[in-house]
Amino acid sequence: MNDVVLTGDRPTGSLHLGHYFGSLANRVTLQDKFPMYVLIADYQVITDRDLPGAIQRNITELLLDYLAVGIDPAKVTIFQHSAVPELNQLLLPFLSLVSVSELHRNPTVKDEIAHSSQRAVSGLMFTYPVHQAADILFCKGTLVPVGKDQLPHVEVTRLVARRFNERYGEVFPEPEAMMGERPLLQGLDGGKMSKSRGNAIALSATEDETAALIRKARTDSERLITFDETRRPEVANLLTLAGLCLGRSPQDIAEEIGDGGASALKRLATEAVNEFLRPIRKRRAEHTEEEVRQILTAGNAAARERAIMTLDEVRAAMGF
Ligand code: ATP
Ligand code: MG
Repeated sequence: MNDVVLTGDRPTGSLHLGHYFGSLANRVTLQDKFPMYVLIADYQVITDRDLPGAIQRNITELLLDYLAVGIDPAKVTIFQHSAVPELNQLLLPFLSLVSVSELHRNPTVKDEIAHSSQRAVSGLMFTYPVHQAADILFCKGTLVPVGKDQLPHVEVTRLVARRFNERYGEVFPEPEAMMGERPLLQGLDGGKMSKSRGNAIALSATEDETAALIRKARTDSERLITFDETRRPEVANLLTLAGLCLGRSPQDIAEEIGDGGASALKRLATEAVNEFLRPIRKRRAEHTEEEVRQILTAGNAAARERAIMTLDEVRAAMGF
């Protein structure tokens, strides 16, 4: 069977190194092999906040991030939720296929609720994983390059596909998650690196911003730098970050630093990240907002055409 790839991101802020090593790098490789859809999940922004915020600005920045890392709009369909009503309509039948207790059990949803600043948890918070099933299945996606936090959601999608097929006949494939080199990159505070948790190194960060962020990162007072994820998680995290950017093992970098202490570690990590981001920053600056608008208009139209076909098929299968 020929694979179809679907991934996406919420337009909640700039993409960061966690995205790169968790998912973006895989996308860049896969775009040459398979049809690929990249979703700007704008409706998902309001799962854990009251307002969409600077949504247009964030969408533009997200697209610039895609172009900067080498996602090629000539090969990939880039589109947004809010422009494809037929995709969103799949949510209705799909919600009927999962139980309330299944929605409550999702560990990623629990983690996100714990980190949300909202006073009340919205219904969308519990149902967005099913919306994600619609995101993946509207184009009959089979391969989903994501970070580790998304695994429970891909499971929900598989469940939805399986149950739909059992009830209404074979319509959907059961997609597989594909994790990147670093499925869960920690942020500078030790938790999951996230756009909305203030602990991320953005792909668009300047050299000085990057240096300032790494300078603030927590470390410990032992001079001899060693890679020990359980005893010295903060140090290990910086070694991991430098290692990913340099294509070297963290142990190897620890040995090179030896008893240089935290300052030598931070200096090396800053240089490694800046070196890695240099070509990405350069490509980002080569694209205009007008270009971004055109890419999105074309992508939205193509995604909508695909969604109309799938919704027709779903209605027919269900006897509507
Ligand atoms: P937010 O805080 O707004 O939820 P986020 O940083 O979690 O932002 P998302 O848009 O929710 O980013 O996730 C987009 C994709 O990036 C998903 O596939 C997710 O698994 C992956 N991803 C996000 N953060 C990391 C990380 N720290 N390590 C690896 N992959 C990640
Ligand atoms: Mg997230």
